[in-house]
Amino acid sequence: MKQMPPQPPRPPQFQPPKRNNSFGYVILFALVLTIVYYLFNPQVATEDKRVEEIPISQMTANYQELRFSELELKNGKIYATDKNKNRYFAVRPQGESLKDLGFSDPNNPTEVKAISTEATAFWMNVISGWLPIILFIALIIFMVKQLGKGANSAFSFGKSQARVYSKDRKKKTTFKDVAGMDESKEELVEVVDFLKNPKKYTKIGAKIPRGVMLVGAPGTGKTLLARAVAGEANVPFFSISGSEFVEMFVGVGASRVRDLFQKAKKNSPCIIFIDEIDAVGRQRGFGMGGGHDEREQTLNQILTEMDGFENETNVIVMAATNRPDILDAALMRPGRFDRRVIIDMPNLVEREEILKVHARNKPLETKVDLKKIARQTPGFSGADLENLLNEAALLAAKKNQKKLKHHDLEVAVEKVGLGPEKKSRKLSEQEKKITAYHEVGHALVGHLLPGCDPIHKVSVIPRGMALGVTWSMPEKEIYLKSMSKFKDEICSLLGGYISEKTFFGEVTTGASSDLKRATNIARSMVTDYGMSPEIGLTVFGEKGGGQFLGSEVTTYKNYSEEVASKIDNAISKILKEAEDRTTKIISENKGLMDKISEELLKKETLNDEEFSAFFSAKKSK
Ligand code: ADP
Ligand code: ZN
Ligand code: MG
Repeated sequence: MKQMPPQPPRPPQFQPPKRNNSFGYVILFALVLTIVYYLFNPQVATEDKRVEEIPISQMTANYQELRFSELELKNGKIYATDKNKNRYFAVRPQGESLKDLGFSDPNNPTEVKAISTEATAFWMNVISGWLPIILFIALIIFMVKQLGKGANSAFSFGKSQARVYSKDRKKKTTFKDVAGMDESKEELVEVVDFLKNPKKYTKIGAKIPRGVMLVGAPGTGKTLLARAVAGEANVPFFSISGSEFVEMFVGVGASRVRDLFQKAKKNSPCIIFIDEIDAVGRQRGFGMGGGHDEREQTLNQILTEMDGFENETNVIVMAATNRPDILDAALMRPGRFDRRVIIDMPNLVEREEILKVHARNKPLETKVDLKKIARQTPGFSGADLENLLNEAALLAAKKNQKKLKHHDLEVAVEKVGLGPEKKSRKLSEQEKKITAYHEVGHALVGHLLPGCDPIHKVSVIPRGMALGVTWSMPEKEIYLKSMSKFKDEICSLLGGYISEKTFFGEVTTGASSDLKRATNIARSMVTDYGMSPEIGLTVFGEKGGGQFLGSEVTTYKNYSEEVASKIDNAISKILKEAEDRTTKIISENKGLMDKISEELLKKETLNDEEFSAFFSAKKSK
């Protein structure tokens, strides 16, 4: 079983403004041209080494006898080629024409055809001799100029590389472009007001907050929201990503921070936005040598700058992260990023609104039901939904439609949520059969147990990493899950494994991720939710920051080996119980399993109606 949603790739967020480096490009172009020229014209450099010198009389004779062709005049020499493409040259006596020398065209004796490259040869000389020197000088001038100019150049390492979105730009992002997130927006309306009417606050002695931290999963619209705040307040927006601070050289990060804050203060009121602050804002003191010093200095500089703000400075620093757990606590102290705005994954209503926002510039058929699409996309982020509509539009365009059909959107949901179909991946008959029984195992158990979400689709078309998919869909958003719901979910996850075991006598590797997920649910029940009678209420394992390599959240053990084995026993017990229940359900429904699997193999995909038709009377909900 594979459920939604893996994270699809994000579209790029910002286009950096164009830099005016045309002078540099011209030089680069000329350099490339020179190199190409040498590559394709090896003779320029090696001209006379490859050709043989002969006396002028021999040259004339050979030409007359048609053994030479193509006379060419160059640098006071006459060049000729024979039919084997060998080249010869003779020194041309000064002041005599070709005719005088005895050359004449055998076919047309009054004329001598010769290509004179005397003129071009002069330029060749210049290019081969002088151009590199000229270019070199130009390059040095360019570098010096850029160093003087400062910002946004390839040589201003220490300057901040922040992109500025000035307040006068035409297409402004405002709260209207951000669908849903009403609570987050409400908190930020305040920030907008600080920027617009700072006097109102300073007059009665209120301290204006300095920093706002936006916390949320990737693609939930943090960057978008920050830009919307700047747009609403109508102030410039300096945006930089945490990872940009730490590229290149040691010591650069801190000076970039200094420069960024200086620029911002000059442009106040304004917003500084540090995207992905976790890249510099990790807890200090745990680094693995090398780069960590750099990070630490950068972070210290950010903190220093924020502390150094005077109350009148109307600069608000916003930052975004999807890893609040690993951030240095110093960032959250009063006067720094003391405001946190949590951005949740969009719920059902919000998903529909986000779809509407991004459907604004796409022609939809009237039959398109965005509400239904929203229902099919729990766990999709705003970015996923945007991507979904784009995929649907691509599909429609491919079929030369004028408008998007509902079907296009449904196909796009699957593509974004599960990865594209891999029709080219050929399964053997036996593999296909096992996959079918595996998926039907999930689906049947999921259908019969009340705690599982209704089945939306069963498919044996390989997608992404999975050979088959059972796709269930909650009828409504659920915020609290009960113990019995967890237990039923585990059963449905085990359904694939048990079905393979029951019908084929052995299990395949296809069940491994199901088992992992089932185990994880069981572990959470025991250690996080106090749902095991043997272990009781204690919650185990503090989540801590993964310092190493930065991506894993490690769990610190805060319990003894003895307790650990108790926990393991409790997990095994839950899994064993679920296994027994699942085995019972599957062996009681063997005939039905055969029937559904057969149908699935025939059709490759069963939708909710086709699937539930097998049960009509049996539905136990
Ligand atoms: P984050 O910075 O949290 O990773 P982004 O702000 O870059 O996410 O969001 C990526 C894209 O997803 C945005 O450009 C926007 O088009 C879309 N998006 C995300 N959330 C929303 C939303 N609430 N309303 C409209 N569009 C959204
Ligand atoms: Zn499975
Ligand atoms: Mg972002």
